[in-house]
Amino acid sequence: MATPKILAPGASIGILGGGQLGRMLALAAAQMGYRTHVFCPEADNPASHVATQATFAAYDDEKALAAFAAAVDVVTYEFENVPAATALFLEHHTLVRPSWRALETAQDRIKEKTFFANIGVVTAPWRAVNSEADLQSALSEIGCPAVLKTSRLGYDGKGQANILSANDISTAWAVIGGGKAKPHADGAAFAVLEGFVNFECEISVIVARGVSGEVMAFEPARNVHTHHILDTSTVPARVNSSAVLKAITATGLAATRLDLVGLLAVEYFVTKTGDVIANEMAPRPHNSGHWTMDACQTDQFQQMVRAVCGLPLVDPARFADVTMKNLIGDYLNNLAAQMTNPNAHVHLYGKAEARAGRKMGHVNHLTWPKT
Ligand code: AMP
Repeated sequence: MATPKILAPGASIGILGGGQLGRMLALAAAQMGYRTHVFCPEADNPASHVATQATFAAYDDEKALAAFAAAVDVVTYEFENVPAATALFLEHHTLVRPSWRALETAQDRIKEKTFFANIGVVTAPWRAVNSEADLQSALSEIGCPAVLKTSRLGYDGKGQANILSANDISTAWAVIGGGKAKPHADGAAFAVLEGFVNFECEISVIVARGVSGEVMAFEPARNVHTHHILDTSTVPARVNSSAVLKAITATGLAATRLDLVGLLAVEYFVTKTGDVIANEMAPRPHNSGHWTMDACQTDQFQQMVRAVCGLPLVDPARFADVTMKNLIGDYLNNLAAQMTNPNAHVHLYGKAEARAGRKMGHVNHLTWPKT
């Protein structure tokens, strides 16, 4: 049977992953009249608390995946460490948006950088690394300082080490788990060495791309990380207009060349000279897009529901200046003060335990008039 162009309200959106991004996606879907079905290994998670239905099973449980595919009209994902093989398996049974190919490209730093190079988007210089000897020769080509990263499964600074001089090679290799390094089953390298970018600031752009290929971009956000975890995203980003244009154009191009249906977020370094250098991408909603929930006509989650269900995208114009602040770890200390400010929009993820480094919620601080 041919795929219907539009999945009408009442259809069920399957979500791989049970975190806060899935939770906010499920809330947006519910508001728009859709049902949601979360699939993830862990019970009692932020997304399943608000979804219509949940399946708790392993990502390689083919029986559970087939039943899940039969119960939903489209599948999407809320984090990119869902195994690509899971998305590929589901593609044989139902619609998967964005496709497994987009997921596979984004979850491997080397595939991602190769993709950026193929479409003419600049990244930091890099070399694939599979051993300490590889690292030594890569460092002699790239030079110091440099950043060593595992090619897969790194997040929030995990699986990453800075190299300031050749003396750091052994330590950096050990820090990223190099002792057990071997290439991945598909031949992809274990790690990548990147030249250090002396950036002025970091920004990110999120675009939505619909089934007919139309692209709508949110404005870039200026992101500040603390201990490698996103702390704030501010819009407008206050970078020059040519950097804004380059970042939006590159993100739209990447979404188009991936033939992606859904959301694509790309993080960039902006240098003093106005160069825009792509760092990494995610084919899903993004923490640096949470500001859109209170400062835009349509937020990233609503726009994603529109895209994956084949509805028209709308202009997500911003109507206020905004800083999104993540509430990390022991957030309760600040919460009472936030709650008394009518321009501070608090979003909590319903996680029981406030562990250090854990994202518990975020606050959008709005100011008017918009600049
Ligand atoms: P990533 O996991 O690639 O997003 O890296 C986390 C953070 O580390 C980035 O947001 C940057 O602040 C910093 N970082 C990563 N790669 C580089 C690089 N090549 N040059 C400078 N800083 C980097």
